Amino acid sequence: NAITENILREAADAFAFDRTTGEISRYGEGHINDTFVVWASDKCKRYIMQRINTDTFKNPKELMENVCHVTGFLRKAILEKGGDPERETLNVIPTKEGKPFYTDSDGGTWRAYIFVEDTVCLQKVENENDFYTVAETFGTFQNQLAAFPAATLHETIVKFHDTPTRYQNFEKAVAEDAMGRAKDVADEIAFVRSREADCHVLVDMLSKNEIPLRVTHNDTKLNNVLIDKTSKKGICVIDLDTVMPGLAAYDFGDSIRFGANDCAEDEPDQNKVHFDLHLFEVFAKGFLSTAGATMSEQEKSSLVWGAKLMTLECGMRFLTDYLEGDHYFRISRPAQNLDRARTQFTLVKGMEAAFADMMRIIQKY
Ligand code: ADP
Ligand code: MG
Ligand code: MG
Repeated sequence: NAITENILREAADAFAFDRTTGEISRYGEGHINDTFVVWASDKCKRYIMQRINTDTFKNPKELMENVCHVTGFLRKAILEKGGDPERETLNVIPTKEGKPFYTDSDGGTWRAYIFVEDTVCLQKVENENDFYTVAETFGTFQNQLAAFPAATLHETIVKFHDTPTRYQNFEKAVAEDAMGRAKDVADEIAFVRSREADCHVLVDMLSKNEIPLRVTHNDTKLNNVLIDKTSKKGICVIDLDTVMPGLAAYDFGDSIRFGANDCAEDEPDQNKVHFDLHLFEVFAKGFLSTAGATMSEQEKSSLVWGAKLMTLECGMRFLTDYLEGDHYFRISRPAQNLDRARTQFTLVKGMEAAFADMMRIIQKY
């Protein structure tokens, strides 16, 4: 639904802002939620107000329970370390009725946060430093949440990184072969099948209690980190819509999957696809500089598996979608999902070739 001026007013009036509110305008470059800045009428202060995308997030109540739980815990952890809890974590501003979100007369779901001032939000990794900053900041997030009871969070997207289940879905798509495409992708199908056992490595480590259940963010992009305008250090992780119970290896692995290469996700020319071990090292160093203290050697080695399995899993999902007729990942040309799958598989091969090197790097930090 379009957001009218009336709805904006209605929503802003619902929150317990500490000043009377004035001007409201769209803010930022987010693609999922509708983000606004609400100014205090005296212009001395501003707030973030967002309409949650309930097409993507069907259960805003559970989502906001997760956000409140995690940010409440972060506040305490930051206070204990003498940090600034209004800058180093998101802070939910409740409604006047004390609720974490507001449902407007049009059915829209809104929430509000303290505006974290004096920061920049970069859209794209331009150099190694940016990638290091992402790693360091998400490592801090992981470190601050090390003692958080992750199992108490709602699994807002069920079995999101359950790689064996993703494998089963892939086999189902091959068996059904709805589009008659399986015969043309026999090599890719064989590639996945020969790695079925790998799909179990991380979930097995978890079920044997070799690695802990953690809070995962699941959208570890540079534009979900607010960077201090002066020090240029990452100071606050934002966009907590997908926080869920999971493994450190999931966030780490996904970051490596999309960050440790310089190719397009749908690159058709596989000769242009290279896993970049140097960028892996940059990220590992940044991540372990902040998260390493709370990690066992076993959990550290799980990160390397995370890189490979998040990439394999993602490729498997693209291939599954290709076999099923491109229902899930939007395409702008035929075979785009197949190219996406192939690109992930090329990266998997690169990671397999560099596996021992990655393990060595992880041990170094
Ligand atoms: P989306 O899921 O749509 O990406 P985000 O929660 O990431 O939504 O917010 C979109 C943008 O709004 C961010 O990239 C950032 O620029 C800005 N933003 C979000 N929360 C805050 C905040 N508390 N303080 C300052 N800026 C924020
Ligand atoms: Mg975002
Ligand atoms: Mg988001």
